This record gives sequence, C-alpha cells and structure tokens, in this order.
Amino acid sequence: MIAHNTATSSQTCHAILEEVFGYAQFRGPQQAIIEHVANGGDALVLMPTGGGKSLCYQIPAIARQRAGLGISIVVSPLIALMHDQVGALHEAGVSAAFLNSTLSSEEAYQVEQRMLRGDITLLYAAPERVTNARFLALLDSLFERGLLSLFAIDEAHCVSQWGHDFRPEYRALTVLHERFAGVPRMALTATADDLTQADILERLQLQAARAFVSSFDRPNIRYTIVEKREAAQQLLRFIEREHEGDAGIVYCQSRKRVEDVAQTLVDAGVRALPYHAGLDNRVRQDHQNRFLREDGVVMVATIAFGMGIDKPDVRFVAHLDMPKNIEGYYQETGRAGRDGLPAYAWMAYGLQDVVNQRRMIDESPAGEEFKQGLRGKLDALLGLAEATDCRRVRLLAYFGEQLGDGAGYRCQNCDNCLNPPAVWDGTDAARKLLSTIYRIQQSSGMSFGAGHVMDILRGKTTEKVTQHGHTALSTFGIGAEFSELQLRGVLRQLIALGAVAVDAQAFNTLQLTEHSRSVLRGELKVQLRESVSAPASRKSKRAGAGSAVIKAPIALDGEGLVRYAALKAWRAEVAREHNLPAYVIFHDATLAAIAKRAPQTLDDLQGISGIGAKKLEAYAQSVLRVVSLT
Ligand code: ADP
Ligand code: ZN
Repeated sequence: MIAHNTATSSQTCHAILEEVFGYAQFRGPQQAIIEHVANGGDALVLMPTGGGKSLCYQIPAIARQRAGLGISIVVSPLIALMHDQVGALHEAGVSAAFLNSTLSSEEAYQVEQRMLRGDITLLYAAPERVTNARFLALLDSLFERGLLSLFAIDEAHCVSQWGHDFRPEYRALTVLHERFAGVPRMALTATADDLTQADILERLQLQAARAFVSSFDRPNIRYTIVEKREAAQQLLRFIEREHEGDAGIVYCQSRKRVEDVAQTLVDAGVRALPYHAGLDNRVRQDHQNRFLREDGVVMVATIAFGMGIDKPDVRFVAHLDMPKNIEGYYQETGRAGRDGLPAYAWMAYGLQDVVNQRRMIDESPAGEEFKQGLRGKLDALLGLAEATDCRRVRLLAYFGEQLGDGAGYRCQNCDNCLNPPAVWDGTDAARKLLSTIYRIQQSSGMSFGAGHVMDILRGKTTEKVTQHGHTALSTFGIGAEFSELQLRGVLRQLIALGAVAVDAQAFNTLQLTEHSRSVLRGELKVQLRESVSAPASRKSKRAGAGSAVIKAPIALDGEGLVRYAALKAWRAEVAREHNLPAYVIFHDATLAAIAKRAPQTLDDLQGISGIGAKKLEAYAQSVLRVVSLT
C-alpha cells in the first residue's frame, strides 16, 4: 500500500489554483485547509456560503491524484447539482464524474470501470450510494491498491438532527473511517452552531480532525431592512433602483404570495418566475434550470428553494416576509454574491410578520420548552430588524463573532451605517398604548386587535369605537399626536419586547403581559427608528418589457460595455451547447475583465482571474474573435 501522507508542497497547491482555476490568490483560510488536507490531514471546515469550500477539497484531490494517490470521493446530498459541479470541473480540465440515480445502469457501469482504472480525480456520489455494498466493494478494491485518496463530506450538517436538513443516510458514513482507516476525511458545512458542530465531529468520528472555522462575515453583502408598507411595490422600486436586469431571489411565506408577487414583477417587466412546493415537479425543475442558466432571472420562492443553489452571481436576496430566525435569514441571504462582487440582502418587515411568526410558534404542536427556544430565536431576529445600530455587528454577534473592536463598530455596508436612522423616544407612546389596552380590558372585559386599539388612542370615532362606548375611556384620544405609522412601530417593538402578546386563538387581540408593567412604570425605555419614507422610484429607463439592460460588475466605458454584451451572448451559446449554466464557462467578473482589457493576442489574456490553462486553450481563440468583431 502506498503511504497516504506524501508531503505536498505549498507551491504545488498554489500552482493548481493558478493553472487549473485561473485564480491568483487563495481566499481566507483556503490555503491552510488545502495544504493540511493535501498532506493527509483530517479536517472540519466551517465556512459561510460563498466562502469557497469547493476548492478546499478539489485542490487537495488534484494534488493527491497527481502524486499517485488515486481518487477522491465527494459525498453530497444534492443530486440535482452534481451534473453542474462535474461539468464545471470538466471545463477546468479535471477528470470528474458522478454516480447517482439519474444515470442508466450502463452509464453507471462505465463510471465504475473508470473508477477502478483510477481514471477519475473526483467522484461525486450521494450518501446512500457511498454506503451501499456494491460501492463499498469498489472502494475496497481501490483502497487495497492505495488508490483511495480522500473523502470529502459536503453539507456535513446533514448528519445532525440539530441541523435543518437532517438526512438519516449521513449517519451510515461512519463506515468510512472504520473500513478505510488512514484515508483522510474532511467535513464541510456552512452551518455554524455549536450543537451541530459537535454532532458532526462525533457522528463522523472526526474528533481528532483539525477544525478550520472561518469568519462568517460576508463583507460584500449590504444588509437593509425596511418597514413594510406595500411590500410588492417596495420590492419593485428596490429592483428598479438597484437591480435592473440582475438575477435575484425573493422569499415569501406562502405559495399564494409567491404567485402574486411573481405576477406583479412580471407585469412590471421583470423576468420573474415562481417556485413553490405546490407547482408541478416539472415546472419547478424548469424554473430552477432557467434561473441557473439564463441571465437576470428573479426567482420568487418559498424557502423550499435554495439548498445548494451555487449560482455565484445572484445579486440580491429579498425577503418580503420575515423568516423564523437569524440562522434562516443568514443562510438565505448568504446565497447572494458568492462571487464576492457587491450584493444586497433586503428585507421588508412589519407588524404582521411579528404577529404571524408568534402565532405559528404558539400553534405548533411542540412542547412548551421547545417553543420557548423558538421564541427566543424569533426575538433575536426581531431585535435585528428593530436595531438602529450596525446590522452586521448584530448578525455576527449572534454567531458569537465580534467585528472590529465590538460596540460602536460601523461596517459602512448596511443601511444603519450608511444612513444612520433618526431615533425617537417612544416610551411615552408605549405607555399610552399599554394603558389603552388595560382600560379597554377593564371596562368591557374584552380584548381587541391592533387597529381598534390605535383608533381609540388616536381619538377616532369609528363605528366600532362608538358602538362599544370606547369614546368614554380615559385614554380616548390621548395619543392624538402620534401617526398611525408611529404607533405601529411602537406596537411592533412592544410585541418584540414581549410587553404585548397577540392572542392568535382570539382574533389576534392584544393582551398585556408580565413585562408590560416595566414599560408602564417607565423602567424600560422604548427606542424607535424614525420611519423614513422610501426613496421615490427612479423613472424606469426600460424601453419595453424584457429589453436587456447591460450592466457590468466593474466600470466599463461605452465600447467596453458593447464588448461585455457580445461576450455574454457568446458565453450563452457555449453554455447551451455544453448544457451547463453560463457561470460555469466564465463568471461575469471574468468577462468584464476581458471586456475592459480588450485583448488582441493570447498574451493579453494572461492573468485575468478565472481563466485557467484548459479554458485558455478551449476558448481563447473564440474570445479574441468576439472582441475583435466588436
Ligand atoms: P461555497 O461552497 O463555500 O458556498 P464555492 O466553493 O461555491 O463556495 O465558491 C464560491 C465562488 O467563489 C465560486 O464561484 C468560486 O469559483 C469562487 N472562488 C472560490 N475560491 C476562490 C479564489 N481563491 N479566488 C477567486 N474565486 C474563488
Ligand atoms: Zn453596518
């Protein structure tokens, strides 16, 4: 048997980065991870979405194959994406294949034969495949000949019941270290919480592995949370202002809302498609493919959409309804800007979101203790939404990470840092609101919803107010100086603080809680952001629905833009021919860099990020031709 721990030099790994992937530098901790694994170490890799996990196993796999150590097995639960991942490796000139249920038995047999010949560098397979008897026998044969080089277990949080996508098949992966002792293993995930992490180490027997924990900051994502009014219209204005022609994901809570919002966008000329569990499987698959393969598609979806979407040029992720917790919010927003270029995470949030999320928890059949946990997580997200300080600091603090020197740090890339909101003291308004709820309850023994309470407070003689004799309450009209918008903000914050409860069983009526008292006594201050009205819509420059807008990720002059557009059109053709998403051929950033340089010779193409040796060989002539013709 050949020793597994052949020293692989740092130069080798860097040479592969440049030659195969066309990148000049490692990102963050990639280099340390890659060298450790290439030299036979076990590793646990925690890195945010978009951090660059794939290279962390692909480069060691290539280095070890070149050193005669054989094939690397990549365990991945995402059958739908294996095709594109393997396609991307082929484009880079790396021998790769996948084994999953989409292959015919003849095709699977061919792949197995290539495996046995040691003719593959990376083999992707689903966990149930990796642990079946037939496949294990293949691995035995490779192992005995010293040709089993590495196991990379991607999306490793699937092993944990604490993770959000628990897959029982992942449990069976313990067999790998028992049966193939000494073959290095690495587990990779973007899920950071401690419980899941401990579970991964134990379940996969990786206690002795070196852990590489990256910062979870995504500096290129700009976080913005706005007050929800007419969500769909606000979204439309946001897209028109910031993201005309860009690819994006819009998350909504329900199927109906997905359909409605998608329609609103389409009517306004945005290339939007709906995605939810109620759609026919084929339609859903088709929409996902179009999102991955076409330029500038906006996917309007429930959270069913997204796991494993590794499209790098998603320019924005918008939430029209609030997610359940910060983990969900961070994972979903993390799908924006994987390519490292500027991207937006935008959320519209309102009173109804708070009420809905609380109700879902209250009505769930789970035990009280578990519900308490869910409420705590929801509160943290509400805190983020109501925050008047840096959003990024709060987000990272939630994951146990401190930014800069901690308190007072300003990231300068979130709404609160860029436009510090005016803050007003809502303590008086809050007390008046609570007193009103108290008086109503006392006088009639009944509870009422938010609208009615605010009407009384603002002194509005609606039919309902008169009918219940509520004009006689001592609090009637004592909040006349506040606008309804302000009071909504106050109420939202009171609910977020737990000082008002919304009774879902009784028409969402408002109730006092044990925390109300401290606000009433003035012990708890209520700080509110001044509602800023949304900037007016920029006049749309769109000539007609669907007309293309050329927008490059870097500044280009007129001619540059023309070249960029021509290169994109050429790329779309190649991608179609190869049945792959366009970004697998070249990223937008690579095309933009080519457009800027306007290369005339092969030499001029040297050093552009994203052009490896194989791509240079395959595409240089075409690229030069496209550039020369524009
Ligand atoms: P993750 O799996 O961690 O979400 P990926 O492996 O998909 O992230 O990488 C995200 C994007 O970043 C990919 O498009 C990849 O090509 C790119 N990338 C990764 N490492 C580098 C690097 N060192 N230099 C430039 N681009 C990189
Ligand atoms: Zn900030």
